[in-house]
Amino acid sequence: MLDPLHRIVHEVNAASDLNEVLQIIVTQVKQAIEVDVCSVYLTDFERRDHVLMATDGLREEAVGKVRLPYHRGLIGLVCERAEPVNVADAPSHNRYLFTHETGETQYKGFLGVPIIQNRKVLGVLVVRQIDMRTFADGEVTFLFTLAAQLAGAITHAQASGQLVTSEERAPPKRFLQGRPGSPGVAFGTAVVVYPPADLDAVPDKKAQDPDVEEDEFRTAVAAVIQDLMALEDRFEDSLPAEDRALFDAWLMMLGSDSLIGKTVQRIHEGDWAPGALRQTIEEHAKVFDAMEDVYLRERASDVRDLGRRILMHLQREGGIQQTEYPEGTILVGDEVSAMQFAEVPKERLAGIVSARGASFSHVAILARAMDVPAVMGMSNLPVTRMDGRFVILDGYVGRVYVSPAPSVVEEYQRLAEEDRELSEELRADKDLPCETTDGVSIPLYLNTGLISEMSTSGTEESAGVGLYRTELPFMVRDSFPAESVQVNNYRKVLKTFHPRPVIIRTLDIGGDKPLPYFPLEEQNPFLGWRGIRISLDHPEIFMTQVRAVLRAAAGLDNLKLLLPMISNVDEVDDALLLIQRAHDELTEEGYEVAMPKIGVMIEVPAAVYQVEALARRVDFLSVGTNDLTQYLLAVDRNNGRVADLYDDLHPAVLRALIQIIEGARTYQREVSVCGEMAGNPATAVLLLGMGVDSLSMNGGSLLRVKWVLRSVSLARSKALLQAALRCERASEVKALLRNALEEMGLGGLMRAGR
Ligand code: PEP
Ligand code: MG
Repeated sequence: MLDPLHRIVHEVNAASDLNEVLQIIVTQVKQAIEVDVCSVYLTDFERRDHVLMATDGLREEAVGKVRLPYHRGLIGLVCERAEPVNVADAPSHNRYLFTHETGETQYKGFLGVPIIQNRKVLGVLVVRQIDMRTFADGEVTFLFTLAAQLAGAITHAQASGQLVTSEERAPPKRFLQGRPGSPGVAFGTAVVVYPPADLDAVPDKKAQDPDVEEDEFRTAVAAVIQDLMALEDRFEDSLPAEDRALFDAWLMMLGSDSLIGKTVQRIHEGDWAPGALRQTIEEHAKVFDAMEDVYLRERASDVRDLGRRILMHLQREGGIQQTEYPEGTILVGDEVSAMQFAEVPKERLAGIVSARGASFSHVAILARAMDVPAVMGMSNLPVTRMDGRFVILDGYVGRVYVSPAPSVVEEYQRLAEEDRELSEELRADKDLPCETTDGVSIPLYLNTGLISEMSTSGTEESAGVGLYRTELPFMVRDSFPAESVQVNNYRKVLKTFHPRPVIIRTLDIGGDKPLPYFPLEEQNPFLGWRGIRISLDHPEIFMTQVRAVLRAAAGLDNLKLLLPMISNVDEVDDALLLIQRAHDELTEEGYEVAMPKIGVMIEVPAAVYQVEALARRVDFLSVGTNDLTQYLLAVDRNNGRVADLYDDLHPAVLRALIQIIEGARTYQREVSVCGEMAGNPATAVLLLGMGVDSLSMNGGSLLRVKWVLRSVSLARSKALLQAALRCERASEVKALLRNALEEMGLGGLMRAGR
């Protein structure tokens, strides 16, 4: 069973649309398990029936016409139960329904499996046999696996408008649904970015000058031929001649008309070279994929490998990889990286859409910091078909409209106008202190860490910097920055905010923040080598950074240092020793540096339970609720599939925060919250009630949070916290906060908050 399964899955993945997927499945399944019929019914939720979408074995004319009402027949039974139905003699079953339009005779053997996505039955994959037949367990699981594949393809087709099961249904406002990444509405042109040498991610684009594209393509092929010949020479002594024949086979492919001629033909039909190459390679590889012979099937991966090699050279050739960013660029990609983000001139960047990632991914945080609307985790994003299309992006609810209808554009223009008005209203509070109605002041700090040209809003209004993420300047370079480079960088921030305090966090790479020049390949990066762990294992990197920070602060006296990802007291003790050493070294070298105040981040459950021991060792604590939530709830902050489970209002998170604050009080240490929770107007009220000393957030959130905190009393926030602590679900806490904000006349901020 396994072999045909792999083959079908592979073909399904390479198929260009849902019809092709359906066709592949019905024909291949029929063959693989030797049945008389294989069909797919999809559920039409509006008409409340199941429509026959593809068949191999029944009458072709019935496709799209035959509709089985809900709850009728064995198909209805599969949907109701959301489980397979396997009956040897269907006509004798009490739910059997005979449909003559399909041209069916009385098939006896019946196996139907539900097609399920996100707990919802989308349809049924069914096989039939004229004779009596009970299907074996292996056959049931075989269909199960394919039904899961189908579910993905169906969801994608529905989202991109390819699939409309009901003829009458008008498609007025179709959109793709992802997750809110950064609030705001953006209009603009999609610019697809893709990682180098990833054929699947190459978008379709028109060739600007086919002759130039052809030249570049041929140059790239010639370069690959050269590479291969050099490789073959290198293996001359170590590989037997028959194995080296492989090189000749590859070289032959590189001279073949089907590969080269076909790509050139596509270029002259209007495709740009990388797109033409992607299509030809896929077409070619599919022929091999379909072969029964295992050896020949393996050749498909050779073809793909050659394709990647050509692409790599193509991207190195002039012109092609130079992405152009028009005014109003909406950056679109399978996984938009911080580096791709940084490449777009700030004034041209209107929005971001990423197929992967979630709202707590660092790219989303970066987007919020820069006030750029973003949608994340849009798993059904048709990346390759989006380049150059007009797009509306709704970062509040995580929607993207591709080539929307004029009525949608109008609606969103109105929304954008409302946004502007709200921002203006908020600006009225710009110079007022952040003080509750009963006179308690709670300073608001800024989260930053961007290279200078990406300056954030909120610089003037903030009480200082509560979190300077140093990894961002490290990420947009191609090697570790030297001590002197770092000194300049940190000095700029320290001076900009002087005399206000600036909390600089030491390097927090790892997790979802790898450095391009320091590759980390790990199975579980968030549970791996990250933050302080890397710093302590590489004291030379840590010492360089600490020396730079201390030197940058000389004479300014507004620096505080923060250590990320602390999970035990030894890490703190070791880091403190190194910081002291850096200080002593610099003093010996004649620099006039002072020992800064030092704090630790509480973002790992272990640190919550040892908060007193940690507080005793340092001057202040800063709670990283983004990581704390991910580690407490065991939900990867980047994984769209479990994003519904990620919630910083989970009662466990609230209780952990209370424990942290109580622990810190034992040693009279100040506690700040610098995760995204601090920048959400609703949750900020709860944090106030808990007694945190300050909040640190993105520039875009500052005035919103200030507006809410200036409208509430400490007493009210404490009462709200007590009510929240009686809730057993995050959804209840959220509803409670929403009502409270609405009562205060601040409902609009709920939408704008996240
Ligand atoms: C956090 O984890 O809450 C935090 C502020 O750090 P980062 O988002 O950079 O991991
Ligand atoms: Mg963190």
